[in-house]
Amino acid sequence: MKKEFQTEVGRLLDLVINSLYSKKEVFLRELLSNASDAMDRARFEALTDKSAQSETPYRVFIVPNREKGTLAISDNGVGMTAEEAEKNLGSVASSGTKRFLQAMKDKAGAPELIGQFGVGFYAAFMVADRVDVLTRRRGEKPVLWTSDGKGEYEIVDGDPEAADGTTVTLHLRDDAKEYLDGWRLEDLVRTYSDYLAYPVMLCPDPSEKPEPKKDKDGKELPPEPREPRQVNSMKAVWKKSKDEATKEETDSFYKHLAHDSEEPLATIRVSAEGATEFQALVFVPRVAPYDLFWPNAKQGLQLYVRNVFIGDDVKELLPRYLSFVRGVVESADLPLNVSREMLQDNAVVRRIRKVLVGKILSELEDMQKNRPADFAAFGRQYGRLMKEGVHSDWENSDRLRDLCTFPSTFSESEDKPVTLKEYVSRMPSDQKEIYWLAADSYEAAKNSPVLEAFASRGREVLFFVDPVDEFFAERVTEYDGKKLRAVDRGELDLDSDGGDKDGKDGKDDGKKDDGDAEEKRFKPLIDALAARFGKSVRQVRLSKRLVDSACCFVADEYGVSAHMQRVLKAFNQPVPESPRILELNPKAPVIEKALALAGDDSRKDDFGDLADLLYGQAQLAEGTPLDNPARFNKLVSALAAR
Ligand code: ADP
Repeated sequence: MKKEFQTEVGRLLDLVINSLYSKKEVFLRELLSNASDAMDRARFEALTDKSAQSETPYRVFIVPNREKGTLAISDNGVGMTAEEAEKNLGSVASSGTKRFLQAMKDKAGAPELIGQFGVGFYAAFMVADRVDVLTRRRGEKPVLWTSDGKGEYEIVDGDPEAADGTTVTLHLRDDAKEYLDGWRLEDLVRTYSDYLAYPVMLCPDPSEKPEPKKDKDGKELPPEPREPRQVNSMKAVWKKSKDEATKEETDSFYKHLAHDSEEPLATIRVSAEGATEFQALVFVPRVAPYDLFWPNAKQGLQLYVRNVFIGDDVKELLPRYLSFVRGVVESADLPLNVSREMLQDNAVVRRIRKVLVGKILSELEDMQKNRPADFAAFGRQYGRLMKEGVHSDWENSDRLRDLCTFPSTFSESEDKPVTLKEYVSRMPSDQKEIYWLAADSYEAAKNSPVLEAFASRGREVLFFVDPVDEFFAERVTEYDGKKLRAVDRGELDLDSDGGDKDGKDGKDDGKKDDGDAEEKRFKPLIDALAARFGKSVRQVRLSKRLVDSACCFVADEYGVSAHMQRVLKAFNQPVPESPRILELNPKAPVIEKALALAGDDSRKDDFGDLADLLYGQAQLAEGTPLDNPARFNKLVSALAAR
């Protein structure tokens, strides 16, 4: 019976067939990997059902036939029923195709992407103008699925003699006849599929009669036996040592596993002996998986027990903040019939996880030290997760802390963030605290008036511009014996930071007296503003933070910063009432003017206008929306018209 492909499959096939790619060869990897998956599943079924055990060993055969122009890939895996063939090969259950189509558009076609979206089978149509799939599920009738990739496929009864498993026969296009060549095929298997856990057997071309060989007397020798031969080494790449496995091999394994077209940012190999024995080969993708922060994102590693594939996405092997790591773990210390539930609370799994996390962090530390450009790329992709780790992984939080980076007033750009360690290493000796400012963006932070005094004194301030950064600050209150301090919170006395706080230092005393005198002089203004703003400000006081700006808002020592309030709001959390403190710059001419107006009863209205302007300015500077934008606009216009 003829059926139409699901529309999206049709579109995909058009793209696959009508674009000419240099890398058509990936079709073989895709088909072999499907065969391997099918055998994994058959093997897995046999674990619980002995009768499902295949009588012949699990193997995949590649059979080129020059006469017929076909290439067949044959496995004795699970096979498919007619319904399964229809569903798996005629439609796309996942949204993979859609994303694939989009990616093809964006990247103007890149065949390496094909594997990435679970549309691997259709790669067959890059080299074939007709594909037959003869497949049989154990105990079911054989099925023949066939299509020329042009909108329709057909499903009919297959050869009743067909064995369990699947044979995909490609009727090669004229320009793809190179894939009939034994050497070419062998080379492709070695390059892309060497690690497959099953023997890949290359069969001699049955249509090719080898030239009969003659002995030295010119007598024809009987033809040499032409047996299928295994062309993959099969040694799982994660079991190979660093010297045994080439970089190309590990990279290609990664690309297959992570459906990525790029090389990984880091490759981490673990071979643990002792209490718990296991091997692992894990990778940090160069670009974060697109669904990294989605709630149902795939996460976790593949798990093998004694060569048997146990499961994908085994979450228990890594903490959440390392969910971007891809790879394989194999251990002989777990039972073969280990279930998902058992993994959740298993001492072996816990030990593996601990060792793995340690190794991954070591690799990241090494990258930070020796490959700064890669580490910067890492930070852009995963920096947030490291900060989450600081919060959630107490055991490693000190190590994670050092992997976190923040832009600062000393950074050339947002892309050149610094670590706490770097910050501390260049702190002047009289600076005793680590300063930070939270803001919605790097730009907003950089332009904040509360930084003025720090800038004028050459003190570095870290910018916490990611919503998770404030949570980081909650967890990390001290570093290297130095307190972390928000620059827009509490009283600030930069000059006495690290100075003699007991006031025995004569200089400090002098400054204090100046300060007291100033407080007294500005008291009428402070009182008048406090009276005008009432409950909406906690306090009005003179500032030590400001150099050029007239005023700013700050939180009190234990108050919630404006940024945190916005973060809480964004996460739909209750936002504690926390009126701000208005700080005035006694050196700003406009504050001087306000002082004069405050003392002049006859200019009460002018004072009110100026007070409201100052209030609005302070709000704008900290990124808080204005209470009354209309009035603020009017006041500014009036001022400009004067
Ligand atoms: P993916 O392998 O990424 O799921 P494919 O397009 O390559 O996507 O294959 C679609 C589905 O067809 C597979 O998930 C599998 O269920 C089925 N399939 C493909 N090849 C085989 C095979 N050799 N044996 C059994 N099932 C197969």
